[in-house]
Amino acid sequence: MRINTANGPIDAKDLGKTLMHEHLVIAFPGWESDTAITNQTLREMTAVCVDKIAELKDAGISSMLDPCPNDIGRDVPLMAEVASRTGFNIVFATGLYHKHYGGSPYWSIKFMTTPDAEKRLGDLFIKELTEGVQGTGIKAGVIKIATAAPPFNDYEKTIFRAAARAHLETGAPITTHTDAIMGDEQLAYLTSLGVPAHKIIIGHSCGSADHDYHMKIVQGGAYIGFDRFGMEDIQPDTTRVQRLADLVKKGFEKQIVVSHDSVWCWRGAMLSKEMIEKEHAQGMAMRFTRTITPMLKEAGVTEKQINTMLCDNPCRYFSGEPCGHNH
Ligand SMILES: [Zn+2]
Repeated sequence: MRINTANGPIDAKDLGKTLMHEHLVIAFPGWESDTAITNQTLREMTAVCVDKIAELKDAGISSMLDPCPNDIGRDVPLMAEVASRTGFNIVFATGLYHKHYGGSPYWSIKFMTTPDAEKRLGDLFIKELTEGVQGTGIKAGVIKIATAAPPFNDYEKTIFRAAARAHLETGAPITTHTDAIMGDEQLAYLTSLGVPAHKIIIGHSCGSADHDYHMKIVQGGAYIGFDRFGMEDIQPDTTRVQRLADLVKKGFEKQIVVSHDSVWCWRGAMLSKEMIEKEHAQGMAMRFTRTITPMLKEAGVTEKQINTMLCDNPCRYFSGEPCGHNH
């Protein structure tokens, strides 16, 4: 099964160990208004990302998914440059973020004023998946959609419907952002629109410590994202490890994908310089292999099961094959 990367199509079997949620750059809408600061140039950002990828390669990782949607700073030329310099596989997304922090002023007005806006949004996703982004020929490989706090609003539902249609037309899988809540609702809505559960990752689920919530997602047949290792102020890693081990004990290791949700460059002064330096010093992107793997083993997860999560599951997700469980 061929999948799109920033460096052109590859065979899903060649992904190897894959982090399923990391970011080269994020820029929340409004960053341009902060004119008091000097942003990094493309060249400076490229240097930062190339360094990060060298660390990942040292840790045995060969691929990543950067699921940044179109409206929070996705930078396709940066991804293409970094991918070609490093030979690292970067799968990237087409999609839109949730109503609170995404490009909702633009899209809300469009949904109100343009009768076929939902169709046009779905067509945009399809175009980026099949023809490429803005005439570059560089194609997205996944569809990113998001919700935040309840309720699941009409703005987000419109985006979900456009995404479901783009999936049905292209076969591209879907990955979501959650605030570790409503993942089960996302899954129910997408499957009601005809998207098979095994084509969906419910992201950031490890932000919840609720095992029953996790079970709803895996029993529903979706992949579950334990993709924020290192974000200790949201959820301690000890809890993430325990909840992950609980799922493995019940036999769901074929549905877990792992990552850190690290952000390597920010546009605008999102975080203080000290915070960014601290993150870089901690080697955020290597945390899973260096720190989390021994913790998982301690909790009873085997090397083989860790490899299933890092390697087999991303391959199977992109290939679109069911994981073999009876749900
Ligand atoms: Zn993210």
